[in-house]
Amino acid sequence: MNLRAPRGTRDILPPASEVWNYVESKIKEIYKKRNFKEIRTPLFEETELFVRGVGGTTDIVEKEMYTFNDKGGRSITLRPEGTAPVVRSYLEHKLYGQSQPFKLFYFGPMFRYERPQAGRYRQHYQTGVEVIGGDTPFIDAEVITLGIDILREFKMEDWVLHLNSIGCRKCRPVFIEELKSFFKKEPVCGECSERIDRNPLRVLDCKNKECADIKQKAPRIIDFLCPTCSEHFSEVQELLEEREIPFSIDPTLVRGLDYYTRTAFEIKTRELGAQDTVLGGGRYDGLAEELGGPRAPGMGFGMGLDRFILMFEKKQMELSGNDPLDVYLVAIGGKPVQKESWKKLNMIRRAGFSADMDLLMRSPKNQMKAANRIGARFTVIIGENELEQGVVQLKDMDEGTQNEIEIDQLIQVLKKKTGEVK
Ligand code: ATP
Ligand code: MG
Repeated sequence: MNLRAPRGTRDILPPASEVWNYVESKIKEIYKKRNFKEIRTPLFEETELFVRGVGGTTDIVEKEMYTFNDKGGRSITLRPEGTAPVVRSYLEHKLYGQSQPFKLFYFGPMFRYERPQAGRYRQHYQTGVEVIGGDTPFIDAEVITLGIDILREFKMEDWVLHLNSIGCRKCRPVFIEELKSFFKKEPVCGECSERIDRNPLRVLDCKNKECADIKQKAPRIIDFLCPTCSEHFSEVQELLEEREIPFSIDPTLVRGLDYYTRTAFEIKTRELGAQDTVLGGGRYDGLAEELGGPRAPGMGFGMGLDRFILMFEKKQMELSGNDPLDVYLVAIGGKPVQKESWKKLNMIRRAGFSADMDLLMRSPKNQMKAANRIGARFTVIIGENELEQGVVQLKDMDEGTQNEIEIDQLIQVLKKKTGEVK
């Protein structure tokens, strides 16, 4: 067969999928402890949402979107990012009418037509948060520290938090004009020279070598911030200092999406090579209005789960993604024993234990091998004799013991041994 997963996509198979589940559920716990609630939006949206929300001159919209017409002739786009859909949903359901701010989190695949390489895929996975309906610096600090808390919870210490403020509708235009006249005099790359007039901020985000050097000398937006933005930015920094979170001010950090205002941040790690940003986000005070809604300032981040998990692989860190089974059941005998064993399997499961048995009904020897390979805490063996006498053999792998137990007592014994009943 020569059918393969499409270029830039990949299958996540067991045991890797166990690690993914473990990582996702642990992150979910961290969110919940901070009173964030889950939102699930569609995998595709009307194209216009991203053109208006992300911005027509961004790399995402200009080059990376999976856009097609559906059978009804509507222009549809597979979501390339999570913020615009969340804000669309917030507006559509008039969540601004409820108590503010909304603290939301999401998990799911994003689609971008990019050149695939390690840590860069056409379908990648993100988790992210959005706090909508407030613009205090506490919200910025809450979002940024949450990102750091996730890294710390997973014992990742080798990161740098890059921080910038990109101003607001009042102060940014002055800076943009400065930036335009600066770049016009510099030998920027072909692509950038075309977009200087339309969106000079994008040049700061350009990854080509010639632009990377030039942007170091470019005017710095923090020198142009209005008093309100400037105060906001200082307060965010103070709050981070209070939480003892080190950061580095990066005046070239503008992020790849047009909707950002004021705080922008990225967390980079040395573990990842070229694709070194695990998490990025910022404040988007104008996005809701851009989408036709009332003013609803917000702040969020998106974290690349593929890259996050790659970091553990690179460090060869074991994530305990694999929860061992409680019970593996071995059935020795013909059909009647197998059927009866299958009933017992369900009894064990109903009692709340994780349990499995060989569904291919292989030889006893192979079933015992499977039990060892799977590494269940207990092996329960049922043969013809046991069935007749209403007993089972219970092997406790931790203790290295084997005992005959009345079938009616099995659940109670298992509970006692696992400490559920003292
Ligand atoms: P980059 O500069 O690496 O292209 P970005 O600024 O386009 O990243 P965001 O839009 O901020 O990325 O997305 C949030 C996070 O999602 C990134 O920090 C990264 O970890 C991850 N990410 C983005 N694009 C991809 C991709 N194509 N494959 C894997 N992860 C990705
Ligand atoms: Mg990108």
